[in-house]
Amino acid sequence: MTSNIKTGAIVTHKAKNVLFAIGGQPSIPKCLPSSHPRVIHSSQYAHLVPQMLNQRDAPYRVAVVGAGQSAAEIFSNIQNLYPNSKTTLIMRSEFLKPSDDSPFVNSIFNPSYVDELYQRSSELRHSLLGDARATNYGVVRLELIEHLYERMYDQQRELGKDSKKWPHRILGSTAIAGVETEGDRVRLIVRPISGASDCQEGVYEKSDMDEIFDCDLVVAATGYQRQAHLTMMEDIADLLPQNPEIDSAAGSEPNKYDSRIRGRPVNVGRDYGIQFAPGKVSPGSGVWLQGCCEGTHGLSDTLLSILAVRSQEIVNSVFGGHEKDATNHIPSEIVMKALASGFTLENREIAEF
Ligand SMILES: Cc1cc2nc3c(=O)[nH]c(=O)nc-3n(C[C@H](O)[C@H](O)[C@H](O)COP(=O)(O)OP(=O)(O)OC[C@H]3O[C@@H](n4cnc5c(N)ncnc54)[C@H](O)[C@@H]3O)c2cc1C
Repeated sequence: MTSNIKTGAIVTHKAKNVLFAIGGQPSIPKCLPSSHPRVIHSSQYAHLVPQMLNQRDAPYRVAVVGAGQSAAEIFSNIQNLYPNSKTTLIMRSEFLKPSDDSPFVNSIFNPSYVDELYQRSSELRHSLLGDARATNYGVVRLELIEHLYERMYDQQRELGKDSKKWPHRILGSTAIAGVETEGDRVRLIVRPISGASDCQEGVYEKSDMDEIFDCDLVVAATGYQRQAHLTMMEDIADLLPQNPEIDSAAGSEPNKYDSRIRGRPVNVGRDYGIQFAPGKVSPGSGVWLQGCCEGTHGLSDTLLSILAVRSQEIVNSVFGGHEKDATNHIPSEIVMKALASGFTLENREIAEF
């Protein structure tokens, strides 16, 4: 069922096969207002900031929340765009840490790694994903870290050790303790992390450790969630297996790491197809997931690295191309080789490559 976002008109479409390829949804910490003219998500940065901050020489005060590549890039970019700005990077982690692109760990982006990971138990997969997180999450390219370090060092040399006097500050191990808004004004109250988590919306107890930042712009560079397909499928929860009926190709019992809809496990096959309860869905029909199977298929699932191979596997699964002799089957190696040479899947010549 789709709804026209302008008119609100609802249209029902019938299809034998459905693919959810809806990407990530911006994730904003609960303590920040989700709808405020001066609070944006990093995904909006490039198109909104030129309108919101339209005077190059103005002394804009900008807070960036996060510790990953997007946060660090935005923190640096604001300083370049607005030479008189004051910027603050607010991070829960103590340090900016480099992304890991060393060769052993990088093998998780090989198409073959999906098979290796998929067959493990949920617990082991979760642990392996945790081991490899520094390839993609909460990490920054080393060159940018070094650039920011030099900028901090220059400020210390020129303005002294008291970082409160610096225009650009990185606050590590810092939580947002409170947020105050009035009209389009926004004030962040931050404090060193002392075991407590960020404030929940509207809850704030003062502390001597608090520092206050009045902001012209707050950018939440706090990542994405990939759960929207679960909400969209709520109405078909009854087609999913009850716990005892589970017939997972991964051979794993459901546990706390598995996605669920109304308590029923959403098991995804190696072919990215959702495993419905036996007999509930006609043969030749189904629902496939593109880009939201990180927990079962690995960190490459949300990235471009094996997008072509993944797409091919889904197409083969939908149209039966997984049979070795099917005419529409294009072996993964050929797709990878063709892409490396600049071909796209739309190019008909790919089959003859
Ligand atoms: C800042 C950033 C940097 C990145 N850098 C890299 C990188 O260096 N290397 C790499 O491999 N990958 C990178 N990625 C990941 C890369 O962007 C994704 O792998 C890629 O965009 C995934 O494509 P997709 O089509 O699955 O999802 P998306 O590109 O997110 O597309 C999803 C589409 O679905 C639409 N949609 C969502 N919900 C609905 C709905 N309810 N109804 C209709 N349409 C809907 C969205 O509007 C969007 O157009 C980066 C991502 C970000 C955010």
